[in-house]
Amino acid sequence: MASRKKTAKKPTPTIEPKGPPPPREQLLERLRRTVPAPRCELDHRDAWTLLIATILSAQSTDRTVNTVTPVLFAKWPTPAALASAPREEVEEVVHRTGFFRNKAKAIQGASLAVHELHGGEVPKDLDTLVTLPGVARKTANVVLGVAYGIAAGIVVDTHVTRVSQRLALTSEKNADKVERDLCALFDREDWIDTGHRLLLLGRYVCLARNPDCQNCPLADICPSRLEEPLGSWQDRAEHARRLIDGEG
Ligand code: SF4
Repeated sequence: MASRKKTAKKPTPTIEPKGPPPPREQLLERLRRTVPAPRCELDHRDAWTLLIATILSAQSTDRTVNTVTPVLFAKWPTPAALASAPREEVEEVVHRTGFFRNKAKAIQGASLAVHELHGGEVPKDLDTLVTLPGVARKTANVVLGVAYGIAAGIVVDTHVTRVSQRLALTSEKNADKVERDLCALFDREDWIDTGHRLLLLGRYVCLARNPDCQNCPLADICPSRLEEPLGSWQDRAEHARRLIDGEG
């Protein structure tokens, strides 16, 4: 039988900034208008469930993770319960998020550490959080910012990296270095919300392969825009806000 040929995934086009980054205050004003109430799209009820959901979200989508976590937390509602669950059963539940063996191992290891070393509470400092299995800076920043309101850094994922590069806020590719550049640019009080705003702009407007520059609220101040913007930035911000809020 003839074997089916695999189609190679289309690479993300390189879009190079052709000028300087937008003025910081203008950028912040537009991001605030576009995403007035930034939120984490991973369903969770507390710091531990957010920690587990964030570990599961690597190389997956929040939507997929949100279909898995209700089952996971119904079966094993506490760190102790999840830590002692049979590995194969956990693998089966998280299977559809991808890399299920590594992820099952990581969420059980992190839950065991939370239960045994931290009295059932997710640690509130970045240095301790990154010692947990499966937890790097991005996950730690999500948990600290969203669950505890602690601005230890800026959440940098693939969307934040791409948008920051296109806006000429960084020329780095490595997430830790992108985070360093963004932290130097923005005041600490803006770190949590700005990270989420850049992430949502990247997820809904500044898409990897097909950025919607015409309708982007930043288009007239973005050094990488591919098309001329339509209407005022306020109109475009409203358009993007509706899209992000699921109204568009
Ligand atoms: S104009 Fe907006 S969508 Fe286009 S590259 Fe710039 S930030 Fe991305």
